[in-house]
Amino acid sequence: IAKHDANSFIHVFDKNLHDLHQYESKILSRFDQALAQNEFVVYYQPKVDVDSNEIIGAEALVRWINNEGVLVPPTQFIELFEKNGQIQKLDFYVLEQVCKFQQMRIKQGKQLFTISSNFSRVHLFSNDFVQRLNTLVEQYGIPKSCIEIECTETAMAYDSEISIAILGQLQHEGYSVAMDDFGQAYSSLNTLRSMPLNVVKLDRGFLLATLDDEKEKANTIIRNIVSLIHDLNLKIVAEGVENLEQVVFLKSVNCDYIQGYYYSMPLSESAFIDLLSKGIFIR
Ligand code: C2E
Ligand code: MG
Ligand code: MG
Ligand code: MG
Repeated sequence: IAKHDANSFIHVFDKNLHDLHQYESKILSRFDQALAQNEFVVYYQPKVDVDSNEIIGAEALVRWINNEGVLVPPTQFIELFEKNGQIQKLDFYVLEQVCKFQQMRIKQGKQLFTISSNFSRVHLFSNDFVQRLNTLVEQYGIPKSCIEIECTETAMAYDSEISIAILGQLQHEGYSVAMDDFGQAYSSLNTLRSMPLNVVKLDRGFLLATLDDEKEKANTIIRNIVSLIHDLNLKIVAEGVENLEQVVFLKSVNCDYIQGYYYSMPLSESAFIDLLSKGIFIR
């Protein structure tokens, strides 16, 4: 590389870093204000029973509709908030919106279903996590079995002793516990063996194989994971299901629940309520 080129590369690199740093600083400095002004909005993505096509639950997924009206996906801020300590506030804020939603359903006499909320790894290391959850959920009078705590496999594997203890407490309190993104980390089987769980969410990556022989292998793995998870008396949710072919396959291997664009994108609360009033998916 000529000297000139190398220098201009460094220049561009610095500029990008600088922009990134500015972008991050801006996001971080606006967090408290954004929270206070309800810029964080909870979307709901249905989970569908493979046999009945009924909506049996949903996952709460946060979005940031910022003061310029732009919808910012969580992939652009969750990690930053994890590194800088805002994630605890945010995760509890999301759960509080879920509690409000459940409370509304109770008041309307609607049948409750379980809604899952994502909790970052940092909660597993906080002494008062379970206590704080209880306080919130009890304040809204929500049955704990209708709240599911999703933690990623990677988060659980990070310190398995602590995770086993905390997840055990959660189950003891009556919450449902789900392992998110199963199959993405290195120690999947170990983690599966040791963690107190109710539900395993199969990582979207398993459904991404496109070449024929790759797909055949991926499908063999999925088929065996489903049967392994059933033998452990757990339920399995397939994530990222986008087409009918995948649905047909997942039905054929007895997967319990499906979450993905094929049935529905994550929806705003009002769109989700509309969908619920229509009942089951007919497709
Ligand atoms: P996740 O918990 O694994 O959530 C599933 C992600 O897959 C969501 O992305 C969802 O929109 C997306 N998805 C669902 N179905 C499909 C599909 O058929 N195809 C494809 N390509 N994608 C699909 P989203 O909403 O952008 O969230 C990304 C991640 O951000 C989540 O992954 C979760 O790890 C994190 N996250 C979201 N909300 C929260 C939160 O309130 N707290 C924390 N700590 N993390 C959150
Ligand atoms: Mg999740
Ligand atoms: Mg996931
Ligand atoms: Mg994921």
